[in-house]
Amino acid sequence: MISENLDFVKKNIESSCKKAGRNSDEVSLIAVSKTKPVSMLMEAYEQGCRDFGENKVQELVEKYEVMPKDIRWHMIGHLQRNKVKYIVDKVALIHSVDSLKLAEEISREAHKKQVTVSVLVEVNIACEETKFGVTKEAAVSLVHDIAQLKGVHVEGLMTIAPYTANPEENRQYFRKLKQLAVDISSKNIDNVNMNVLSMGMTGDYMVAIEEGATYVRVGTGIFGEREYPV
Ligand SMILES: *Cc1c(COP(=O)(O)O)cnc(C)c1O
Repeated sequence: MISENLDFVKKNIESSCKKAGRNSDEVSLIAVSKTKPVSMLMEAYEQGCRDFGENKVQELVEKYEVMPKDIRWHMIGHLQRNKVKYIVDKVALIHSVDSLKLAEEISREAHKKQVTVSVLVEVNIACEETKFGVTKEAAVSLVHDIAQLKGVHVEGLMTIAPYTANPEENRQYFRKLKQLAVDISSKNIDNVNMNVLSMGMTGDYMVAIEEGATYVRVGTGIFGEREYPV
């Protein structure tokens, strides 16, 4: 099942790229494996997946310990400051930085472990009350502030669009996130890149790609429905 699902998602990614006039190597697929057992992750790994996304620190660390070492782990969930120390030397990218305090903690732990941590600033682009992430306006100043920190490197922006049955409804938000990245990029801030846009999930990744996503985060579309809510 996973193999067929992956083929299907990859074909969709390719056709969205084609439709948008983009090269398909500009878009990377993150297999969002939260709540799923290692056996299923290994199946995806054997089909070529090297990017996995988890939203809980403990689960990420447990899977990190037992899975092959050439995997790039993505922390995509809300991150508490007291848990930063467990993952700074294990993750390829933290997608969910939404405060200066969190970024400062990442910087401290990065220094201790002598690593540089790549991060995205999470933007609540649809201004949903239930979502983490900063406003568009706050994102600009947060990026400026993080740029001053050692051991942390801003690579771009991430957003979680509203849940909707009609992906077209989210096109406006993906477009806004892209525009925000372009705006921030034009400020040429030292130590800041705006090359990465993490947006699009199972329900809307094709639209996100048309609007400029460089990472899409797909869980259900690869591993099937999750058994329990997270
Ligand atoms: C769970 C999750 C996903 C994947 O969601 P699906 O709808 O199953 O593809 C993507 N991004 C984040 C931040 C998530 O928590």
